Amino acid sequence: MLIDTHAHLNFNAYKDDLDEVIKRSLDNKVWMINVGSQYETSKKAVKIAEQYEKEVYAAVGLHPIHLSDGIFKTKIDQEEIEFQTREEDFDYQKYKELARSKKVVAIGEIGFDYWYKPKTKKKLEEFKQKQKEVFLQQLELARELGLPVIFHCRMAHDDLLETLNFQFSSFKFRGAIHCFTGNWQQAERYLEMGLYLGFNGIIFKLDLDEIIKKTPLEKILIETDCPYLTPPPMIDRNEPLYVKYIAEKVAKIKNLNYEKVSNITTENARKLFNI
Ligand SMILES: [Zn+2]
Repeated sequence: MLIDTHAHLNFNAYKDDLDEVIKRSLDNKVWMINVGSQYETSKKAVKIAEQYEKEVYAAVGLHPIHLSDGIFKTKIDQEEIEFQTREEDFDYQKYKELARSKKVVAIGEIGFDYWYKPKTKKKLEEFKQKQKEVFLQQLELARELGLPVIFHCRMAHDDLLETLNFQFSSFKFRGAIHCFTGNWQQAERYLEMGLYLGFNGIIFKLDLDEIIKKTPLEKILIETDCPYLTPPPMIDRNEPLYVKYIAEKVAKIKNLNYEKVSNITTENARKLFNI
């Protein structure tokens, strides 16, 4: 059994064949957590999860990219697609209401994303400030509900670390840095806080071998981030079933057998998300 700890079957990419994709995963003993990126996709993740007694779970949260509006480009399959962000204001009560579902196992994905940033200094400061504000409100929600956090962080590890360090003295949050792509110094600091590191298909593109080697297996989560980041040998739209390729790659890098990696990473996910 494996658990894809970061999937987005709640996204439009699966609007035509959602049930089949889930069935394929469950038939192959792959459970999943569908992660929200703003209110509508969070709500959809909960709705999907509630159709299953176990196996399929949800996380709710407002991704930093949806605080601004704009057209963003990303890749699904080999194709570059464009999507429109929602410029959403974070509504604490609405997300709290969603998180009441027993199938919600985390607040996420939340954090910092400096990939597309404003060019003027003043706008940049406002942009960073807004991300931090909304992040802290969601961290508070996690604290109030006693839920772990799925952190998203792109080009912003130093700011995330600084913010978390400051919070950690008052609130011992639990969680995972999804799609970790930072350096070892940053990884070490997250690990010292007791956080897990999540790895997905990006490990086939970027050289994260040293970091994976040094990270204790007991602190690794595997994920797909589907529909994005399809791991080779697959080339089509990513899906939870393909999380097995991540487990295989981690096993290869750490020179361990596949069984061990699948068992321990599954245990890690069950422990962190209480499933
Ligand atoms: Zn994601």
